Amino acid sequence: MPPIHGFYWSPSPTNLEAEWRTFVQSGANSVVIQIHALTDALLDRLRRQGATVYVDLPLFAGADLRVSFPDSAPVDEYGSAMGSDEWYVPLCPNNVHVRAHRLASLRSILERHGDSLHGVWLDFVRYPLRWEVPQPNLVQTCFCDQCLALFFGHPLREYAVDERKAAIDAILNKRFDAWVEWKCQRIAGFVQDVRDFLKAQRPDLRLGLFALPWRLTDHNAAIRTIVGQDVALLGRRVDIISPMVYHRLCGQSSEWIADVVGEIHARSCADILPIIQTIDAPGSLSAAELRRALEIARAVSDKGVLLFDLSAIVRNPDKLAVVREAFEGGKVTCRR
Ligand SMILES: [Zn+2]
Repeated sequence: MPPIHGFYWSPSPTNLEAEWRTFVQSGANSVVIQIHALTDALLDRLRRQGATVYVDLPLFAGADLRVSFPDSAPVDEYGSAMGSDEWYVPLCPNNVHVRAHRLASLRSILERHGDSLHGVWLDFVRYPLRWEVPQPNLVQTCFCDQCLALFFGHPLREYAVDERKAAIDAILNKRFDAWVEWKCQRIAGFVQDVRDFLKAQRPDLRLGLFALPWRLTDHNAAIRTIVGQDVALLGRRVDIISPMVYHRLCGQSSEWIADVVGEIHARSCADILPIIQTIDAPGSLSAAELRRALEIARAVSDKGVLLFDLSAIVRNPDKLAVVREAFEGGKVTCRR
């Protein structure tokens, strides 16, 4: 299979034609599209273009599900229900309604558009955290009634305030290692559910997931302890892991991309397909800086590279030129 050269794309109804032109001009061969944006017309265009189409399936985040299932609000280590953080609305990853809804959405999208899809990329595959910053606020979750019942192995019941605080204290101070292992198994377990579903319904589809771009040495191993992503466990259940190596958002140099990809590659048996940022956040990301990030990502990945996202290229001809050069086989000058 040729390297994936693609975009994460959240099509804008008001700017669709410009985005389409940019996609074609870039030389991209693949796209990851938000599930809500899939339409017959767009998929028909992509098919005629010969593009490989993956659908982004968000799991444990989303304002709509928080409304539908109020008991999906995660509870943090202080015993408080977590609210939203700007666009980010976290969901308890163990909520049975959320899990069932996501599998039903996958079934529905395969029934409606399955013939036009080549794979599924799982998103928000984790416990809650707003991670796209240099110093994330690391808070343990989730201590909702459902999570406590599952962890302690007792029937679902309502916890009083003091009782919940005592349970949180016992978990974090006396059973921390077991808690972290359980969290990682719960996340991997749902990815296994998706894998089993695809195996039964569409074994030809590729299964990928977006992973946090953290090494075990970052933030006290928070990729396992806080968000419950164990890339070794996850890598046995998916075909491809895409670390979201958004260097500027994370306050890192572009060289950091190689370090993160290298560690995840060493810890996981899955293929690794990095996704790097094109967006101007924080501040402006120059075309030269994008070129450097692309060179590094392509040098450490023989599976290709994804770009987040297409809209940032539409607005910037210099960045489009850099992407086209890379996607059309421009020379990779960086070596690890
Ligand atoms: Zn919970």
